[in-house]
Amino acid sequence: MGHFWASMHAKKIAVFMAVLMTALFLCGPFGQVDLVEAKTVSDMQNQIDQIDQQIKDLEDQVTANEQKLEDEQARQKELTDQILNVEEQLSLYQEKIDLVESEIATKEEEIKTKEAEIAENEELFAARLRRMYITNTSSSVLSTLLSANSFSDFLNRYEILKRISQEDQSLIETLNQQKNDLEALREELAGQKEDLQASYDEIDAKKSELDALYAESKGVESSILEANREYMENVEKYKDQQAALEKEIEEMLQNEGSDESYGDGQLKWPVPSRSYISSYFGWRTLYGQPNYHTGIDIPGAAGTNIVAADAGKVLSVKYLDYGYGYHVIIDHGNGVATLYGHCSRIDVVPGQMVEKGQVIAGIGTTGNSTGNHVHFEVRINGTQKNPLNYVKQPS
Ligand SMILES: [Zn+2]
Repeated sequence: MGHFWASMHAKKIAVFMAVLMTALFLCGPFGQVDLVEAKTVSDMQNQIDQIDQQIKDLEDQVTANEQKLEDEQARQKELTDQILNVEEQLSLYQEKIDLVESEIATKEEEIKTKEAEIAENEELFAARLRRMYITNTSSSVLSTLLSANSFSDFLNRYEILKRISQEDQSLIETLNQQKNDLEALREELAGQKEDLQASYDEIDAKKSELDALYAESKGVESSILEANREYMENVEKYKDQQAALEKEIEEMLQNEGSDESYGDGQLKWPVPSRSYISSYFGWRTLYGQPNYHTGIDIPGAAGTNIVAADAGKVLSVKYLDYGYGYHVIIDHGNGVATLYGHCSRIDVVPGQMVEKGQVIAGIGTTGNSTGNHVHFEVRINGTQKNPLNYVKQPS
């Protein structure tokens, strides 16, 4: 008893000093006294409720953003359909353009052939003229005409020469006409190609617009996702703050415990129908991170009865959706308290007296838990101790 009083006394001094130091710090030149820091249980409970409201606001924003996200994704799907459609049109136009281009190339080949034919005939014609008029004097036009025997012979020879020349000229004219026709066709094709290209460019511009809208929507989507990530991070931070406040409240409540033992001082295993321990007290690895486990975990089906480890008075009953979840703290007096966390239901109310072995709650997985189990803590003067030093695990 003397030891207990000494330790309680030391603790009260420590708490007083901590409050004093905090007050001094907050009263500094830049500080401002935050009355919430005075920390009564109801102040802390108010703070928890305020944080709860902030969490709800954030969760509302997340929900609203999820709706926006759905809208944005529907828009992207619509844009994708439009883009595919436009791309199909573009490839059709490209095919047409390729076709016209190959027709133009064919026409140009034909024009070249025609030009060669013209050049060849002009060459032949010129050569014939040269032969007739200039080069070979014996067969020159002049000599041909001058060597005529009579005037009628002269006229006859003149007509023949004229006809030869006319035939040559009309052949060349015909060839030139054919060449002109080919060129006209080529021009027409070039016109067609220009029209097709104009349509292609128009659709291509539309595609660029759609691409830009799609990219914009993607940008909006990623900023919504980023915002939600941030909101959720803040929700986690708030929940951590709430858990810390809960812990403080419980420690303060513990100090209000009875000095006299309520029961026989021997703690009993809290789940009569189960003996397995899935996680022991002390350092462990949780989600890849070192984590200090403040109790032991006893798994069981949802609803499995949990009993009071000793007689005592119910110090606190909480229905949280974080941390310990639904949990009960029982003060057994003489600085001893036990906590039962993650319950599915709680059968007692604060201030109620309980017997050793009385059913107080059911196993569950509320709060920060991944499966049905009870998290059982033993606290001696507010400090969590290894429960296996106080209860015997059934064999
Ligand atoms: Zn646990």
